[in-house]
Amino acid sequence: MDFRFSKEEESFKQEVRDFLKVEVTQEMVDEVERGTEIGIGPHCWELMKKMGKRRWLAPAFPKEYGGLGATRWQQFIIADEMTYHRSFPLHLCGVGIVGPTLLQYGTEAQKKEYLTRIAGGEIEFALGYTEPEAGSDLANVQVKAEKKGDSYIINGQKVFNTGCHFSQYVWLAARTDPNVSKHKGISLLIVDMKTPGITVRPLWVMDDDRTNEVFYDDVKVPIENLIGEENKGFYYILTALAHERSFPVGDMRRTFEEFVEYIKEEGLGKDPLVQQSVAQLAIELQAASLLAYRVTWLTDKNISPNWEAPMVKVFLTEFMRRFSNTAIEIMGHYGLLKKGSKWVPLEGRIERLYRHAARRNISAGTSEVQRNTIARVGLKLPRG
Ligand SMILES: Cc1cc2nc3c(=O)[nH]c(=O)nc-3n(C[C@H](O)[C@H](O)[C@H](O)COP(=O)(O)OP(=O)(O)OC[C@H]3O[C@@H](n4cnc5c(N)ncnc54)[C@H](O)[C@@H]3O)c2cc1C
Repeated sequence: MDFRFSKEEESFKQEVRDFLKVEVTQEMVDEVERGTEIGIGPHCWELMKKMGKRRWLAPAFPKEYGGLGATRWQQFIIADEMTYHRSFPLHLCGVGIVGPTLLQYGTEAQKKEYLTRIAGGEIEFALGYTEPEAGSDLANVQVKAEKKGDSYIINGQKVFNTGCHFSQYVWLAARTDPNVSKHKGISLLIVDMKTPGITVRPLWVMDDDRTNEVFYDDVKVPIENLIGEENKGFYYILTALAHERSFPVGDMRRTFEEFVEYIKEEGLGKDPLVQQSVAQLAIELQAASLLAYRVTWLTDKNISPNWEAPMVKVFLTEFMRRFSNTAIEIMGHYGLLKKGSKWVPLEGRIERLYRHAARRNISAGTSEVQRNTIARVGLKLPRG
């Protein structure tokens, strides 16, 4: 099997790189490195719009919805280069999660209304799944959506809904039927964050990122905002989750390259123990890339990566932990310094990664839950 990109893909990659080298400014990187405290800030919106104009933000969307009808490989190349150039703080939910799910289950009107604006870099979505008693056990969603006339009335509380302070819409899981088994009574709705009755309260995470508690108090949502069929939302969420767990590895590649340069500059690279440790990280980073390529290959063939995407999620986020641990061992106390400290190396990225890795093991589903999916869906093992 040949894992190389084709000549055309290589030249597309170079074109994207050249564009990002010019467009990604230090101000943008500073904005991005404040993570979800800001989320998508003014510099990021500007870049998204520029990419939208080139149809590079969601190239795999069909042409009539603002894409290029490009392959998943082109989409992957762009996402990978964007993270390599530190041009976005997080997965773009509209492009990566909501868009592909809407293409599969949305009505024509919904596709026209949302896909074009996602692809144009005009709007972003937050994910509204988790609740105080529904995290790993997502089927336990209790937020209610009651149908009244031509609307749903939403009531209840969500937690850890990260993008709600900077996104225009939330992709909300709500219970539409409390009288059936719990997986069967959930629906998926698009909710405009400007609708009266929504209160967003910040929650701060150990890596200084922001996520939110969100309260819904008689929030009126038009019935045409329902995705697919009522009460089938849980199954649509499974599709959306497979998209969410497919991560590019560009940001880790960049930080690893910079770390290796640091070792060379500081004269640490002669130590055989350092060489062993860094070589091990290089092996794992390569493995993470290959797992991500496999997911791209599957989605390009319209096969849902139900258990292959969880492999990327577990491996990459646990790699982040191993990488930051090893780097701190090698750098000593310098590795623990925060951005802004006088003697901080690598702009504090290793220290931040150490804290960031801990939360990345949890957000988008914990490692234990990903392993359950791999065991049950991939290996067909019975429920314990
Ligand atoms: C920073 C951050 C951002 C987030 N952003 C979003 C967001 O934007 N939108 C959103 O909807 N959600 C978001 N989440 C929520 C995230 O998806 C959940 O936190 C996650 O799914 C775990 O759920 P929980 O926190 O309720 O933990 P629990 O489900 O209570 O799990 C607690 C522990 O028990 C383990 N566990 C639970 N069930 C099993 C099992 N069956 N087998 C083995 N072990 C198990 C877990 O692995 C974990 O270690 C975010 C979370 C964080 C921390």
